[in-house]
Order: sequence, then C-alpha cells, then structure tokens
Amino acid sequence: MRQYSGEKLCRKCFAESIEEKVRVTIGKYKMFEVDDKIAVAVSGGKDSLSLLHILARIEKDFPKSSTCAITVDEGISGYRDEAVRIAAKNCARLGVEQTTVSFKELYEYTMDEIVGKTQDGKLTPCAYCGVLRRKALNIAGRKAGADKIATAHTLDDEIQTFFLNVIHGDPLRIARSGPKYDQAETGFVQRVKPFCEVLERESALYAYVKDIPFQEIPCPYSREALRNDVRHTLNRLERKHPGMKYTIYSSMVKIREAMKGTVEEITLKTCEDCGEPTAGTLCQACIMVRGLRDT
Ligand code: SF4
Ligand code: ZN
Repeated sequence: MRQYSGEKLCRKCFAESIEEKVRVTIGKYKMFEVDDKIAVAVSGGKDSLSLLHILARIEKDFPKSSTCAITVDEGISGYRDEAVRIAAKNCARLGVEQTTVSFKELYEYTMDEIVGKTQDGKLTPCAYCGVLRRKALNIAGRKAGADKIATAHTLDDEIQTFFLNVIHGDPLRIARSGPKYDQAETGFVQRVKPFCEVLERESALYAYVKDIPFQEIPCPYSREALRNDVRHTLNRLERKHPGMKYTIYSSMVKIREAMKGTVEEITLKTCEDCGEPTAGTLCQACIMVRGLRDT
C-alpha cells in the first residue's frame, strides 16, 4: 500500500498520486466491470466529492461505463440543505446526473423531527441516521439504475468502524465488512469503497488542491456520536506515532481474512413492510419508523 507521509509533492503530483492509489485499490479488489453504471454516494462533504471527481475522471478511460451521483437528504436544517446544494453544484460542473432521495419522502420524518421525537437517549441520532441512510442509498441506487454504489469511506472510517465493532461487542461484523460487499444478488445494489486505503487528510487535501467546493461545517448531531471519540483518539495516536493508522488497517485486513469462513452467512428475506432485503421479518429501518410512529 503506498503511503502519503507528507513527502514534498507539487499539487499536480499529489493529486495524481491519490488518483493512482484509487485506481490500484479498484483493481486490487476488482470493484468494477468495464460497463458498470456507478452511483457515487455524494453527501456534499470533502470525501464524497473528491471520490466523485476521481471516479468521473477514471470513467473517461472506460467508454462503456458511466458515473452518476446519489444524494440522501436526511433533513438536517442548516447543514444538509447546504450540502445538497454543494453536491448539486459539483455534479453540474462535472456533467454528472444526480438522483436525490429524502428521509421525509421515504420515512415521513426528517432527521430533525426524529431527534425531536427520541429525546430518551436510547439511541443516538447517528444510530437512526446510519440505518435509514443505508436503506435510502439502496433505494436511490436502484432508482438510478446503478450496478454499483461507491461510497467514500476512507481508511480512517474503516479503522474507526473496526474499533466501534469491538467496543459494541459485535466483532463478527468485522468479517462482514470490507472494500466490496458481495451482495449483488440479494436485493442490495453492490457496494464498493474505492477510498478504503486513502487517509481522510489525503482526501481533504485532494479537494483543496483540485479546488473542489465542499461543505466544511460538521453535522450538528456528530458531537454525540461515539465514532467521534474514536476518531479523535486515533488522530491523537497517529500524531504521536505516525503510520499507526496504516498498521491498524493492515491488522484489520488480516483479522478479517482469518475470520472468513468462520462466520455464518446470513440468509436474507424480504421486509414485510417495504420489500427491502432483511435478515428478519422487518428491516431495521421499518422497525425504527414503526417505533417513531408510536412515540
Ligand atoms: Fe447522520 Fe450522524 Fe452523520 Fe449527522 S453525523 S449526518 S446524524 S450519521
Ligand atoms: Zn422494511
């Protein structure tokens, strides 16, 4: 894995080194077919917009493939509305078609309304948001006719999730994650993570050197998330021991490989309420929405 360790590169060479890193990752994990329609999950933040710009560039080398963008509007006032505008601006600049879905249209509630209804503190806003957004992306991916959904999870996100799975006592999830989810035939649009070996700071720097406009303010609900604490801890460790994030990532990959075959495959059914794939009778999103209606 090529590391970017602050070596002195000009803007052009730095941008090319990140693009090359993404190409190598895509090839290593065989993420795409030459004729795929790739839907990039674009939130309006630096990571997803850097990924959109890079994939739109790479796609030009594969005339049979195409790139589009899917955006989920969770309904977070003063935050997501601006991000959606920035995402649309970037799509227009790149000539990329954008499909937007909102929590309000899919689930009757905006994220702000959900937070207003769930002040008991049993689940954090991010716990709701993560489940509902995952389903929304799948719906948007199908609506856009995509073969793959590319998300901008960076190496930082991957190792944070690794630690969160351990912290939550759910280590088997480690085996079920990865740069490419083999779920194409299950009702899920297959997901890939071309940024899984790109550091968050590299993705941010890419956006700066390429003059990509992105939303800089954080989500108002992110402070409550445990992920935020893990993120700060890992950043502190990396500052003190440079290269540690790569070491953790490599360990995570080895653990995942070692766990493969030991974890039972989940047989997916169809949610009785919405028809989306699920392991139970109802999908997690429908269970949450039912709970919201009852509060
Ligand atoms: Fe959703 Fe949490 Fe991210 Fe905000 S920080 S957009 S609530 S997952
Ligand atoms: Zn459902």
